[in-house]
Amino acid sequence: MSQSILVAVAWPYASSEIHVGNITGAYLPADILARYHRLRGRNVMMVSGSDSHGTPVTVKADEEGTTPEEIYKRYHDDFIKLFQKLGLTYDIFTSTHTSNHFDVAKKLFLALKENGYLYTESSLQWYSLEQERFLPDRYVEGTCYFCGRTGVRSDQCDFCGQLLEAEKLIDPKSKIDGSTPVLRETIHYYLDLEKLQDRVADFLRERRDYWRPNVIRQSLGQIDREGLHGRPITRDLSWGIPVPVEGWEGKCMYVWFEAVIGYLSGVIEWSLLHDEPDVWRRWWTNPDSKTFYCIGKDNIPFHAIIWPAELIGVGDSFDVMMGAEDPEPLVLPYDVPANEFMNLEGHKLSGSKNWAVWGLDFLERYDPDPMRYYLTVNMPETRDSDWDWDEFYQRNNNELVATWGNLANRVLSFAFKHWDGNVPEPGELREEDLALLATIREGFSSVESSLEAVKLRAAIQEAMRLAAEVNKYLDTTGPWFEVKTDKSAAAKSIFTAMQAIDWLKIIFSPFLPHTSEQLHAILGYEKPIFGKTVTRDVADDLGSHLVMLYDPQGALTEGTDDCWTPEPLTPGKPFNQPAPLFKKLDASIVEEERARLGV
Ligand SMILES: [Zn+2]
Repeated sequence: MSQSILVAVAWPYASSEIHVGNITGAYLPADILARYHRLRGRNVMMVSGSDSHGTPVTVKADEEGTTPEEIYKRYHDDFIKLFQKLGLTYDIFTSTHTSNHFDVAKKLFLALKENGYLYTESSLQWYSLEQERFLPDRYVEGTCYFCGRTGVRSDQCDFCGQLLEAEKLIDPKSKIDGSTPVLRETIHYYLDLEKLQDRVADFLRERRDYWRPNVIRQSLGQIDREGLHGRPITRDLSWGIPVPVEGWEGKCMYVWFEAVIGYLSGVIEWSLLHDEPDVWRRWWTNPDSKTFYCIGKDNIPFHAIIWPAELIGVGDSFDVMMGAEDPEPLVLPYDVPANEFMNLEGHKLSGSKNWAVWGLDFLERYDPDPMRYYLTVNMPETRDSDWDWDEFYQRNNNELVATWGNLANRVLSFAFKHWDGNVPEPGELREEDLALLATIREGFSSVESSLEAVKLRAAIQEAMRLAAEVNKYLDTTGPWFEVKTDKSAAAKSIFTAMQAIDWLKIIFSPFLPHTSEQLHAILGYEKPIFGKTVTRDVADDLGSHLVMLYDPQGALTEGTDDCWTPEPLTPGKPFNQPAPLFKKLDASIVEEERARLGV
């Protein structure tokens, strides 16, 4: 059985659009990893969905006078549209608003409760007498008790930045009708993180040598400094997953508690949709399964502390509930390669202030691979990075077009013309030809070690360096002139360059899948490298939801063959008329795009 790889991707909130910061932070690195591991013949499951619950969705619904369901579906459907255009190959992208997710979340809740990791506690919360309901923090505004500003949200002051204890807010008002709420006692379930602290710390210590330092600092560092304390996991809300305990009607699980459970429920949904109801265990109860969590740094505590704590607390109880004869515990995260943030033109990206490059909007004007390229070379892996339109323009023209795209186009056009659309017969290769091929062959190992360590920036830089090596080789051998005096020498140079390009196509394919497929087809291969994503409407007790699925059928990477290998190119093999892979951009786009931002 080949290695199981779970690529668990942050769940976008179904209440705001996706911008380049979100894409480079979590979604794109996940797809690069998933595609790379598929090339290796591993059993990949890339899972995520829309985080459809919580107050951001209900606030938006109230503002627009519609239902939370309509809000979440609108964003959810747009997410899928964007992911398909960008070529993100989720095995399943679903939603938290599904019967299956409700069921799995309830099971986990009950397992934690039965295993003694939940307790209840009372606290004071703002209650609207007019509406006869508790008001979530975001529904109450008032005066900050630190700085005295008015119109401040009850959980955090945007003016002085202080986190607020909602019940201390001065002169509170309901955002819904302006009425004055009163404090009332309410009871909630808490996750007993204190009880789980030692095991979570052990889990982190076992991984500290290979995790990113920032992730260890924000998790193990926090435990060492402050220890862990119980956190409420229920809310007085009606939009969400009901607490599965009698007498708790009208309360829901808190979003941060249930959304992470989607990594498990999503895989179960995938299994059910493929009529293999037990196959989720391949990723979730198989001790050899490796699970990667692709997230932004704001999500580190949830994925490096709280989610592992939930999994440890559940242990093998979930597998028992799912009818296992030999129950196994749920698999803990192997790596949480969280990224830092991306800024825009030197300033903090902000969706609410419209200071952003929006995914769908960008793809109206540009192709997906240039975005993928720029976001990978600029990925905020160890520190914040910056989207700069001038740099985007430069890198597109000088690297994608000049170094890689022109190389492929120039060599294939030349070969197509002079060898009538067939790969030239090289005869015996010269020393310089063998040296270039050895360099590219070694590239499979060097790019592999970066990808295995989730160093995607280094990986794509290495791939681009290899492309530059082929250009250098062509500058030396000069087949464009050789062909006039010694066609057999030119055949050796062009064959060697074509072989190198054919290999580089595989090396580039996790990063630049659209153009790699295009090149693959030009080179005359029938099977595409990767499969396709499809969408399906799934009906259940809660209505219906759209899912996006990855279908590997008919692709080179279907099955367990290792395709990350330098396969020999066949001399004499026919190929197709080439076309440029990338478009050269005009310098005017820099000013146009900056004007669009209002600079
Ligand atoms: Zn304040």
